[in-house]
Amino acid sequence: MSWNEIVPGVYSRRYERDDLTMTVVRGERGLLLVDSGSSPAMAARIAADLQPLGEVRWLINTHAHHDHTFGNQYFASGSQRGVRIAGHHRLSAHLDAYERPRLAAWREGTGSEPARDWADVVITAPDDPIARRSWVDLGDRAVELIPLEPGHTDGDLVIRVPAGAGSSGDAWIVGDVMEEPGPPMYGSGCFPMRWPQTLASLLDEIGERDVIVPGHGRPVGRAFGVAQLGLLESTAALIRRHHAAGHDIARALASPDEWPQPTDALRLAVERGYGEIEAGIQH
Ligand SMILES: [Zn+2]
Repeated sequence: MSWNEIVPGVYSRRYERDDLTMTVVRGERGLLLVDSGSSPAMAARIAADLQPLGEVRWLINTHAHHDHTFGNQYFASGSQRGVRIAGHHRLSAHLDAYERPRLAAWREGTGSEPARDWADVVITAPDDPIARRSWVDLGDRAVELIPLEPGHTDGDLVIRVPAGAGSSGDAWIVGDVMEEPGPPMYGSGCFPMRWPQTLASLLDEIGERDVIVPGHGRPVGRAFGVAQLGLLESTAALIRRHHAAGHDIARALASPDEWPQPTDALRLAVERGYGEIEAGIQH
């Protein structure tokens, strides 16, 4: 398997581990890599695989989840590579709140994925917190970093690569704000009630001829995003209805057929959604 050029100068490659899709943008001044994989060893492998394309000069995190950031240390400003890392300005707080405790649990063998070797991981936050839209100049092209409102997490950031010569539309590298091939993943620090609005605003900017590259799976088009928005909206509506009826989480999920995706992966969605609704009521 090798790098697949999705639009001129934008390459992606799928990795078996976590079914990650790694994406890189090539410019005159070097490579801009999106996310770093789930460990320093995986990051080293990605860097080796990238050698025919050039050297990584920038690393951008799409969000804090371990499979997207635990390779940061390999590239980081303190390492031999000396690459500056940028991410959403809330990403660092998410690392502290969720990824550090999760890593500690895995190391003790009490978390859900204790089997892997986590000993080498040093959680490494971005150097450059991104609070508003900004541009990275790769020499012959520039890419836009767009921090989003809360959705998959409260630290999601997408990368827009404007259409260049030979491409029919922009490329959008979106992390897990859209998930392929599975349904949306409600993981740690998710905002199930706000996610639909965040995705709808993003889709307003995405054109019919643009390409969307999710953090897992294959590239998709706008229609895929619209379908995924439908799933997120149905789930949010059901969470709201069960909350209004006073149902606890088990009761809310008691009828799997009414939910748009398997309920074993929705516990956290309901729990977090209830939290959002209750926080909204207190305001
Ligand atoms: Zn994620």
